[in-house]
Amino acid sequence: MSFLESITKQFKKAIKILNLSKDLEERLEKPENVLEFEIEIEKDKKILKFFAWRVQHNSILGPYKGGIRFSEKVSLDEIKALAMLMSLKCSLMNLPFGGGKGGVKFNPKNFSEKEIEEISRKYVRAIYKNIGEDKDVPAPDLGTNEKIMEIMLDEYEKLIGKKSPATFTGKPIEKGGSLLRKEATGFGGGIIILELIKKLNLENPKVAIQGFGNVGIYASLFLFEKGIKIVALSDSLGGIYNPEGINIKEAIEYKKALGYLKDFPGSEEISNDDLLKEDVDILVPAAVENVINLRNAKKVKAKIIVELANGPITEAGERILLKNKKIIVPDILANAGGVTVSYFEWLQNKRNEKWSEEKVYQELEARMKNIFNEVWQFSEKEKTDLRTASYLLSLQRLIKKIRS
Ligand code: NAD
Repeated sequence: MSFLESITKQFKKAIKILNLSKDLEERLEKPENVLEFEIEIEKDKKILKFFAWRVQHNSILGPYKGGIRFSEKVSLDEIKALAMLMSLKCSLMNLPFGGGKGGVKFNPKNFSEKEIEEISRKYVRAIYKNIGEDKDVPAPDLGTNEKIMEIMLDEYEKLIGKKSPATFTGKPIEKGGSLLRKEATGFGGGIIILELIKKLNLENPKVAIQGFGNVGIYASLFLFEKGIKIVALSDSLGGIYNPEGINIKEAIEYKKALGYLKDFPGSEEISNDDLLKEDVDILVPAAVENVINLRNAKKVKAKIIVELANGPITEAGERILLKNKKIIVPDILANAGGVTVSYFEWLQNKRNEKWSEEKVYQELEARMKNIFNEVWQFSEKEKTDLRTASYLLSLQRLIKKIRS
């Protein structure tokens, strides 16, 4: 089952409970616009063409919002699924945004900075009439970063002939980016994990985190600084395990120096697959899609799984986990810290304000805690899992707006 099919199945599970008309169901499920085009560049005297997309899922609550992914694995189906997740996430988090997502199918690792800049500018030339601070607000995603947002904004402003910093979020601070945007997804996930630990009275919980990129690094740093023991950690080259707890600050330095976690002093080596089956209280997939699936779900020992990656559990994997009474904090809630601080960035740009780090953190913490507790209470009331509760709350907000 593809990622899109898996997301759509989870979405339909919630839709069925709401018993909506076919028209309304379609309006919530189908993207409003799909822009599909090709980007052409010359490399080593050869013309190369890449597929590119911007999917605008829905704008019921406000401008479309969502990242742009540069990856050789990206497909239109994947972008559609991620755009739908963005619509649900923004609605759940009470943000005045709809959902969108974009992508270019190429591996940035094989291209020079200059070539990536050319691709970024050509991408903006293809979509600039369809984006804007009140129309569609892109951001970085896998394979893109704040530098690319700066380039894209520059191209966009040249094309429209005026300044419009709120059209892109995830920019460098000096170009109107927000403090804590970089840390936001990991910190937001950490805030939810602390709430869970409190709610379930977990004593000395052990945590395993898969993925040590932007999200994994800041989630683990946040928890480490709060005294939570992280016993397993991994990146794409493999994992490390230390039952006494890993010193995250040292692991960050080590990864920065060598580019991987393997052979980190004082730790044992484990595979990425073994990390998922580790005997811990909380498992945090923070890397890629579909890592917990039909094949390995029954071997997951953690009581709690917090989805910091988008779509790390397949629909079939989730059925097994729920049967085994696992608590799953879904991606649209767990990793929503990033889009929340993107919203703060957009607001700051539109109001010409600069928020302090303290203010950004307080606003982020308040929103993550409130929505987490709202979802938790709703799931208890409706006797359903946290994903279905999140989808239901989010869809109810969208339907209320449509009917208002
Ligand atoms: P990143 O590229 O910075 O880091 C990804 C990490 O995963 C790296 O450490 C990489 O080595 C590791 N990895 C890659 N393939 C792996 C595999 N097969 N097994 C184990 N580890 C693997 O990306 P990121 O920004 O940290 O994003 C991670 C996930 O979080 C993605 O699913 C992304 O969509 C989601 N997410 C990110 C943000 C954000 O603000 N960055 C916001 C919401 C959701």
